[in-house]
Amino acid sequence: MNKTALITGATSGIGAQIARRLAHDGFNVAINARSQAELPDGKAVAEDCKKENVSAVCFIADVSVYDECQRMVKEVKGHFGSLDVLVNNAGITRDGLMARMKEEAYDTVIAVNQKSVFNMMKFAGNVMIKQHGGRIINISSVAGLYGNAGQINYSASKAAVIGMTKTASKELGSRGITVNAVAPGFIQTPMTDMLTDEQKANILKQVSLGRYGQVSEVAAAVSFLASDEAGYITGQVLEISGGLAM
Ligand code: NAP
Repeated sequence: MNKTALITGATSGIGAQIARRLAHDGFNVAINARSQAELPDGKAVAEDCKKENVSAVCFIADVSVYDECQRMVKEVKGHFGSLDVLVNNAGITRDGLMARMKEEAYDTVIAVNQKSVFNMMKFAGNVMIKQHGGRIINISSVAGLYGNAGQINYSASKAAVIGMTKTASKELGSRGITVNAVAPGFIQTPMTDMLTDEQKANILKQVSLGRYGQVSEVAAAVSFLASDEAGYITGQVLEISGGLAM
């Protein structure tokens, strides 16, 4: 296989594992790091990927910034010659109850989690249109499906990602491009490590399987949606939540 996958926010957590998994599947991988400071982490992920005998390179871009996404997509296409899979994984939280949330916390989360998906789907989608095919997988969240107290900004951004996934699937389907979302529940990563023990215990009470998900379990679903076998699946949201009951 000589196909390239670009994963945003791939220096840590779910994104890093998706990069490793897609490398294992045989994709060359473009690892997005937010800034120069994250480059060492990105390079460590690239080294893991190279063990699968694929090419792996880090590209710096803050995906909330339109021009940086345009530049990065151009760089990835220029380096690898094609861009076949885009995984919009970069995301942040700035939690707080709505009554006390600062405007900046709302706007920042929307910019990083939502606007980035527009930026990246637009520029990568244009490359895929010219290639007559591609796969886009957006990382949403159960918070976007069901809401979550303390996450008005995050749940808004992740619900928007689902609407954007469905719209993009309709716009790009005739060009052979599939666009799907996965909605993870509570996955063990630096993002969920920030929760208090009490919050963690309360969350687990709602999970049918009674445990956190692993990054490998999200990466496996992304791997399938990126594969040729998933060619007739588009505009869908796959929940990976251990049967979270809301
Ligand atoms: P994480 O470990 O904090 O990873 C997030 C990644 O996004 C980091 O590499 C981070 O880089 C990067 N990032 C943040 N802002 C960025 C920007 N402006 N430009 C480029 N990269 C940026 O979190 P995670 O748990 O793996 O989350 C990955 C995705 O899964 C997110 O979209 C998250 O919302 C979603 N998700 C996670 C869970 C969960 O339980 N963990 C559940 C549902 C959905 P820095 O380290 O440099 O900031």
